[in-house]
Amino acid sequence: MTVEAHKETLEFKAEVSQVLDLVIRSLYSNKEIFLRELISNASDAAEKLRFEALSDDGLYEGDSDLRIRVTVDRDAGTLTVSDNGIGLSRQEVTETIGSIASSGTRRFIESLSGDQAKDSKLIGQFGVGFYSAFIVADKVTLSTRRAGLGAEHGVRWESDGRGSYTLETVEKTDRGTDVTLHLKDDEKEFLDNWRLRSIIGKFSDHIALPVEMLKEHYGDEAEQKQDAPPEFEQVNRGVALWMRNKSEITEEEYNDFYKHVSHDFEPPLAYAHNRVEGTNEYTALLYVPRKAPWDLWDRDQKHGVKLYVRRVFIMDEADKLLPHYLRFVKGVVDSDDLPLNVSREILQHNRKIDTIRQANTKRILSLMETMAKDKPEQYAELWDAFGRVLKEGPGEDFANKDRIAALLRFATTNSDADTQRESLDGYIERMKDGQDKIYYITADSPTAARHSPHLEVFRKKGVEVLLLSDRVDEWLVSHLSEYQGKQLHSVAKGDLDLGELADKEEQEAKEQAVAEHGALLEKLKTALGDRVADVRPSTRLVDSPACLVVGEDDMSANLARVLKSVGQSAPETKPTLEVNLDHPLVKRLESESGDDRFNDLGLVLFDQAQLAEGAQLDDPAAFVGRLNKLMLNMMVTGD
Ligand code: ADP
Repeated sequence: MTVEAHKETLEFKAEVSQVLDLVIRSLYSNKEIFLRELISNASDAAEKLRFEALSDDGLYEGDSDLRIRVTVDRDAGTLTVSDNGIGLSRQEVTETIGSIASSGTRRFIESLSGDQAKDSKLIGQFGVGFYSAFIVADKVTLSTRRAGLGAEHGVRWESDGRGSYTLETVEKTDRGTDVTLHLKDDEKEFLDNWRLRSIIGKFSDHIALPVEMLKEHYGDEAEQKQDAPPEFEQVNRGVALWMRNKSEITEEEYNDFYKHVSHDFEPPLAYAHNRVEGTNEYTALLYVPRKAPWDLWDRDQKHGVKLYVRRVFIMDEADKLLPHYLRFVKGVVDSDDLPLNVSREILQHNRKIDTIRQANTKRILSLMETMAKDKPEQYAELWDAFGRVLKEGPGEDFANKDRIAALLRFATTNSDADTQRESLDGYIERMKDGQDKIYYITADSPTAARHSPHLEVFRKKGVEVLLLSDRVDEWLVSHLSEYQGKQLHSVAKGDLDLGELADKEEQEAKEQAVAEHGALLEKLKTALGDRVADVRPSTRLVDSPACLVVGEDDMSANLARVLKSVGQSAPETKPTLEVNLDHPLVKRLESESGDDRFNDLGLVLFDQAQLAEGAQLDDPAAFVGRLNKLMLNMMVTGD
């Protein structure tokens, strides 16, 4: 087969054109970032080669001086970023460059709002690096050859970014990748030597690889050198940022490096940079991003920081360097003591890695503690982005449970806002005299939590309750049973024990009620049959006629619903119906002489109590039927 026979024209997946369009529109105001993205890719490619060459020296093909070159052809109006890194095979080009239509892209498209400002932020979260070339180019040619393959295995990919691309097999003697941008007519500023140098200085100073440009000669010198071979010079600093002295690194450099490792377009919220000496020497540069990436909740998605060993890139997403509940942290760990051939398996059981993970965890926790104390607004931003992930912490990291608990933030009945801003320490400070527990309610939405009948007595007594409505909250409270010696207690479980908060009279009144209204309670229990475990008078209710509670050790009704909604089984626990004996409806029920009507009213009370907690009725039509019957009756009899 001839080389030409390999040429084919392929259509982009529909999503690709959409993404391209959006990239161009949204990033236009910040268009020079395309160079950062291309240099970033080139540097990744060089690092991959360096890593693969550890076990196969032949991949260097006799040249282990890795570098990136940026060249321009003013006559042709092109700008080229070349690397002598790992390169791509034909199949790899199709898989990586030809289709960004991964499941991620699809979700990206789905999450677009149509609002340009918002959508361009999303692009940052998804990172569509290579395609940023189309911001300034109307055609992009990528020539590449994978290290180790013969020169005849070169591949040329070309596209105008509008719907299709061509792919052909070509001769390429140098390994690695050249990305050539055919600049749009009004983007010719990117042919300017000084403009390019300044962008590279700004964005790519900190990457460990040299970025080179042709030396330019002026005046007499230019004439003398006319026939001399082209000379390249390094235009970036080319020292890995994390190896430099903290005191010499500016905020801006830290931020730029973050953008390089994270593919984020916004600066980070905070960072920690530490060099550890001794028997386990390493450097860690860890960043807390500002926004959650789109795949934070995707179980299959890998997370973690980049691992280097003595400046050699080893792997992305080394997830053993931080616990899972800190999976949003980005950055670099560079170890002096791990072997270069370290694999994911080795990382699983390595004492040095364990030590690094523990230290990293403490660094991030203290970074957050400082932020929570000194910059509460910034911490609120962090909480909104990552709070639900941090709530996994007490269940995962026993050693740091109390520190994590102190960092948690909740919506509570203390304020009308559903934003999660109150800490457990703040709650404890506001506890009433005689209150010995931290009360919470779980529900499937902030509104359902806030309006639950279970809160009525707490409102009346002015006792604050944590409103928990994130899915992870059930998991959290099952692992965080106490904080600072105070038990966390669900307001919807067990016989309400208000401790010293309950007045004596109330207690006595309750005992008396059981004695006086025993017949009603018994009759109601019979009417409800095996729907309930018991019927008893309530001390929780003020305005509502009834509510449901589960036993102290039973699974909460909310958790049972969550489990069922994700297709898991939950134990069938029967609730206890608590009734408010002071409520007119309950009084009316007590005086009801007709058995049918008593039963209907009793069942309506029970179903209402379920609805009030956000549950779905087993037989909604029967509920509606009973309610209508009662209403009609009321219209006929006025009773
Ligand atoms: P990302 O870098 O976030 O994965 P890009 O769109 O920038 O997304 O790149 C897609 C993929 O294309 C990269 O993951 C890499 O596999 C490949 N790629 C891009 N540029 C190069 C390059 N210069 N050398 C080798 N592979 C590259």
